[in-house]
Amino acid sequence: MAENRSPWITDDLVLFQDSIRKFIERELAPHEERWWKQQHVDREVWRKAGEFGMLCASIPEEYGGGGGTFAHEAIIALEQSRAMVSSLGTNVHSGIVAHYILRYGTEEQKRKWLPKMASGASVAAIAMSEPGAGSDLKSIKTRAVRDGDHYVINGSKTFISNGLLADLICVVVKTDPAQGARGVSIVVVETDDLPGFRRGRVLEKMGQKGQDTAELFFDDVRVPCANLLGTEEGKGFYQLMQQLPQERMIIALGALSAMEKALEVTTAYVRERKVFGASLLDMQNTRFKLAECKTHATIARTFIDDCMAKVLRGELDAETAAMAKWWCTQRSCEIIDECLQLHGGYGYMMEYPIARLYVNARVSKIFGGSNEIMKELIARTL
Ligand SMILES: Cc1cc2nc3c(=O)[nH]c(=O)nc-3n(C[C@H](O)[C@H](O)[C@H](O)COP(=O)(O)OP(=O)(O)OC[C@H]3O[C@@H](n4cnc5c(N)ncnc54)[C@H](O)[C@@H]3O)c2cc1C
Repeated sequence: MAENRSPWITDDLVLFQDSIRKFIERELAPHEERWWKQQHVDREVWRKAGEFGMLCASIPEEYGGGGGTFAHEAIIALEQSRAMVSSLGTNVHSGIVAHYILRYGTEEQKRKWLPKMASGASVAAIAMSEPGAGSDLKSIKTRAVRDGDHYVINGSKTFISNGLLADLICVVVKTDPAQGARGVSIVVVETDDLPGFRRGRVLEKMGQKGQDTAELFFDDVRVPCANLLGTEEGKGFYQLMQQLPQERMIIALGALSAMEKALEVTTAYVRERKVFGASLLDMQNTRFKLAECKTHATIARTFIDDCMAKVLRGELDAETAAMAKWWCTQRSCEIIDECLQLHGGYGYMMEYPIARLYVNARVSKIFGGSNEIMKELIARTL
């Protein structure tokens, strides 16, 4: 399928896209298989990505970033998904955590953490979810209690992307449990030589297996109060709500790219595959299924382009981001499933790209706020 050029992709972004695509082909794709087996990337590749300019592309240059916009993060999300290279957790690192620090961090915090993240010297994660609280973030149990000029953190987190390799973790904690959402804060935990901090095993997932999703445990972990993100306690929930639309757009962009890729690999497959003396593409069912998939992918691209224009003007609201997240991930899973069906038994074999797209896509309806929560957010605006 010919690649569409979205209106928000300027000539400069085309060059950026081309360089990112080449970096992925050269430095990430050849190792993906091995990373799936070891359940994490090699630590060194974070530095390579930093040197290349793939990390913190949308963070100002004065903090070591690439000086770009959200469009740069969008290009990276599209390209990683298109290449089916899911192991390097750049979306969380650059698209999400770096922006928490940029937006809410003090000048000192930004200067301390962002350059290290941009170079790949630090790997970042965000730890919201707990064994007992995912969708219902207000009921998290992890506590941070002030003791002099330190917080003492106790609790545990689960499903944390980059959890094994991260050394800079934005941990969502309760600083005042009596205050509900207003008692939630984000504390940046630097994990090097940190007594009481422990990582659990890398969780075994059905897809995206090279991404180090892990459990984290905090047992009387002492963190300086200066690591509170921003200057005031109790702002964490508000900070999360402000930033989640961006995270949801990144997931929607990944879903868009995955559906376009599914269409591309399936069209090539059915053209070659012979059934009953004809090409599988000649069967009316195949033609109609792929016509439907192409229509949905085109609608998704058009909607995402509209959302991107709004993001870049600073006008994307939480409701529209939620629509983009649930609709694109739902359609993506459906399209990939239809495309897998057209592969017959080969579609179930991991050596075929469609199988990898299938197992990678499923989680997109769950993480970043489940699709049910997205609908709840939209329904509140009715
Ligand atoms: C691979 C992976 C990576 C992840 N990465 C991170 C990460 O880096 N950091 C992080 O903090 N978290 C991460 N998560 C966690 C993820 O955000 C949560 O799994 C998600 O928010 C859902 O929470 P839960 O799993 O506790 O499900 P639950 O909240 O228990 O939900 C279970 C089901 O109930 C539904 N449900 C819940 N509430 C409602 C409601 N009000 N109305 C209707 N239905 C409802 C949900 O939609 C879901 O279908 C990751 C998860 C995975 C699988």
